[in-house]
Amino acid sequence: MPRPIEARIDLAALRHNYLLAQRRARVGNPAAQAWAVIKANAYGHGLLRAAGALADLADGFALLDLADAVSLREAGIRQPMLLLEGFFEPADLEICAQYRLTVVVHRLEQLLMLGRAVLPAALPIYLKLNTGMNRLGLSDDELPAAWREIERASTIGPVTLMSHFAEADGTERERCIDWQLQRFARMIEGCAAAAGLPVSLANSAAILRYARTAGAWVRPGIMLYGGSPFADESAAQLGLAPVMTLRSRIIAVQHVEAGERVGYGGTFVARQPTRVGIVACGYADGYPRHAGTGTPILVAGERTQTLGRVSMDMLACDLSELPTVGVDAPVVLWGEGMPADEVAAAAGTISYELFCALARRVPLVVV
Ligand SMILES: *Cc1c(COP(=O)(O)O)cnc(C)c1O
Repeated sequence: MPRPIEARIDLAALRHNYLLAQRRARVGNPAAQAWAVIKANAYGHGLLRAAGALADLADGFALLDLADAVSLREAGIRQPMLLLEGFFEPADLEICAQYRLTVVVHRLEQLLMLGRAVLPAALPIYLKLNTGMNRLGLSDDELPAAWREIERASTIGPVTLMSHFAEADGTERERCIDWQLQRFARMIEGCAAAAGLPVSLANSAAILRYARTAGAWVRPGIMLYGGSPFADESAAQLGLAPVMTLRSRIIAVQHVEAGERVGYGGTFVARQPTRVGIVACGYADGYPRHAGTGTPILVAGERTQTLGRVSMDMLACDLSELPTVGVDAPVVLWGEGMPADEVAAAAGTISYELFCALARRVPLVVV
């Protein structure tokens, strides 16, 4: 028998969440289309599996790796595909054109590379403007040169204007996005070349809270996988369904006397006699090692908490209130019945990181 850990992937939930993103975006713009963001191996859910499950629904797919985009085309995905970091060297451009990819352009040099390329077809581009995230994107003073190159180069096809919100999940609501919307408007105002171009701004948080930012194309990521982008609103409240359920089993039970300690470093000290369950899941499976005592966990359908340090292959949990639970009892680390967002919050991180960190040794099982 294999080790009892597995990650169940609910593709119906993925489809449900995609349709929710599309519906929300269409509140803001009835013609809005949605890139399903499947970077990072579809946030740990399996690239081909996720794309396959959305193949008849998604308006397009957004990802990072050229090789991944090529493998999706070769697997029969026909929708537009967007490379979110664009291309890295001139040699990539031929492949982008051959495989009909759309590329983000975030540096002036990329436009110049495009201008010098000889391509079988013009490439559609997403011109990324830096509106305050200060990560990727052209600045105000680079724009005139960018427009000159776009007008001159026959290798540059249709242009969409793009930017990215730095704090659309913020609690100060409208104020968290308005400053970037204003900068965006200022960067393109009075610019004839930019007038009427399609726009793409919204990530999951903006789609869910600020449908008015939808523009022509939205870019939902975490919401597709049933994670809430917000600290103050749960996935269930947002109508999102969990896609990944990380499951395992109890493989041993310890009866620990008061004063005994549990796990490496003995960071948990029993105040009273404690029944401790040992779960076949550790940080080498992707469970966060920095999740301390008290992280919520579901055992035999009941909520309890972890105890002590997470080890490489195991973690401990408190079975004191679950006297009938023993070896082989099912455990949900996150997913159905145990929101990943709660586990993430207890571990001082976000569900994005939990999903992406799922280790390759954990078998993915599609349901
Ligand atoms: C990852 C990413 C997204 C999706 O963000 P979520 O918060 O997961 O919805 C959207 N746009 C860009 C540019 C990204 O890199």
